[in-house]
Amino acid sequence: MIVRFLQILLAFVVVRILWGLVRSLFGKPANPPRAAPPGRTEERGRVVACERCDLHVPEERAVVRDGRTFCSDACAVSESQG
Ligand SMILES: [Zn+2]
Repeated sequence: MIVRFLQILLAFVVVRILWGLVRSLFGKPANPPRAAPPGRTEERGRVVACERCDLHVPEERAVVRDGRTFCSDACAVSESQG
């Protein structure tokens, strides 16, 4: 009975060690991404909100007109027309 328990315990330890090896092999940092300092996450994949329809689009796809941000040309034109 106690042997069975030790086998399970040993399996847990082995799995944990293997998991740590796999993680280090793939070069992932030990800390989860959410632990990154603020500001760095905005460097990539930043999303901006359209000032007319409030749709969120990637910054590189956003249309900036007169310093205001829109999701598309259609929104920018309709906003400038009132
Ligand atoms: Zn829009």
